Amino acid sequence: MPAGVVIVGGGLAGLSAAVRLTSEGFNVTIFEKRPYWGGRVSSFPDPVTGWEIDNGPHLITGAYECTRQFLQTIGSASKIDFQPHLQTVYFDPEKGKASLRSVSLPGNLSLMAGLLKFRFLRLKDKLGILKALQRLGRLNESPELDFFTADAWLIRQKQTTAARRYFWDVLCLAALNAPPGLVSFLQFFRVLKKSFGAEKEKARLGFANAGFQDVFAGPAEAFLRKRGAGLYKKETVLNLEIQNNRAFALQLKGRKLSDFDALVLAVPPHALEKMIPKNFIQQLTVNRIRFHPIVSVHLYLKTELFPEKFLAFIGGTCQWIFNMNAIRSSKYWEGIWYSVVISGAEEEAKLPKDTIVSQIFSDFQKIQPGWKPSDVLHIRVIKELSATAPGSPGAEAGRPSQKTAFKNIFLAGGWTRTGLPDTIESAVLSGELAAKEVMAQS
Ligand SMILES: Cc1cc2nc3c(=O)[nH]c(=O)nc-3n(C[C@H](O)[C@H](O)[C@H](O)COP(=O)(O)OP(=O)(O)OC[C@H]3O[C@@H](n4cnc5c(N)ncnc54)[C@H](O)[C@@H]3O)c2cc1C
Repeated sequence: MPAGVVIVGGGLAGLSAAVRLTSEGFNVTIFEKRPYWGGRVSSFPDPVTGWEIDNGPHLITGAYECTRQFLQTIGSASKIDFQPHLQTVYFDPEKGKASLRSVSLPGNLSLMAGLLKFRFLRLKDKLGILKALQRLGRLNESPELDFFTADAWLIRQKQTTAARRYFWDVLCLAALNAPPGLVSFLQFFRVLKKSFGAEKEKARLGFANAGFQDVFAGPAEAFLRKRGAGLYKKETVLNLEIQNNRAFALQLKGRKLSDFDALVLAVPPHALEKMIPKNFIQQLTVNRIRFHPIVSVHLYLKTELFPEKFLAFIGGTCQWIFNMNAIRSSKYWEGIWYSVVISGAEEEAKLPKDTIVSQIFSDFQKIQPGWKPSDVLHIRVIKELSATAPGSPGAEAGRPSQKTAFKNIFLAGGWTRTGLPDTIESAVLSGELAAKEVMAQS
């Protein structure tokens, strides 16, 4: 067993590796450059309301098996509420609201039956979707699926404009943070296969009923502390020294660390590139992986905009609007708290915050004619410029696995080769896989 494992990066991938390794009796130290744990899944107190707000609402699904196991281990599984069955309420300014809800039938029949009842689609649209889902069910994963876009596949399946607008495009943007024209079909295929297979529970959505600090980072930190892990925030690892095919030292601000046996690098690729000596970077096969932004806007209103937990808004700036009071079952500050999500926000991320907010106001007026901006008590806009790496066509081959060309260096991160798109589940799984590699080498 190694004397010590150092983990760089305290996002979910790093925390997951740390939880597994300390559980197996390893001596673990984590360095995180920010003043908080959780990385891209974090929350902090809003200075005006005092309430814990997330960096952006996240959804998990029943298919997130590693994440659910991780939450079970750190003792916070009860902080995710799962829907009894998949249900999404759509809002289209021209058609009003309609619900897409799977029904109580075995396996994927439940979604099919639900789809048949979905008011925004005609029979022709629905039959086309069902046929495409059936073809997908018969398809096996292969590397070729990474060389064309999800869009190309949908065109080949002759999906109607309405089927695209209300089903496929919404699903792709929600699951992969990019429209079907920008993502490889392989990534879309993986999401659909995992969520809409025989077990209908996997398609259910789960919502955090507390801030992410209380769901992920806080319980993970407490778990690790109890097991004697060394936890260091505000500590940036600047570079690594590599000799004889091994990492032998880490340079931090003002100090050098060399008493470790294994190193798990759980940072995004751009951070990894900065850390690795230039002459070794090729050996880590970190190809340029493209990240896409997400813009989240938290708004506190005097009056209720809608009572449902969340709405999929079609054809506006808003794509998802989360009713945080309903999700967290509590009243926040003085107002009713809604969080708007704009995924694949390449354009919106470049706009001034005021412009984004006025576009959101105009969407709110479509939900509730007569709604006025004077209803807003407080607004907070958060732009996450590198939110996820959805996987453009051909990118899969550039995702490195946990094992590297160096004997004691292992990689973790949602963006690494886990067989999943860059999500919470991929991050947690990557930490598990990296921990397994560390254990196998010791
Ligand atoms: C707004 C938003 C919404 C999202 N929505 C969803 C969703 O609904 N569902 C879903 O499954 N996923 C969602 N995701 C994606 C999900 O959050 C990520 O895939 C996952 O959190 C990635 O975790 P990670 O540990 O791989 O990376 P990160 O969280 O990026 O962690 C890497 C950590 O390394 C640290 N670090 C970097 N460089 C150094 C250094 N030199 N020294 C020390 N530390 C360093 C960073 O500070 C960071 O904390 C969303 C992401 C965002 C931003």
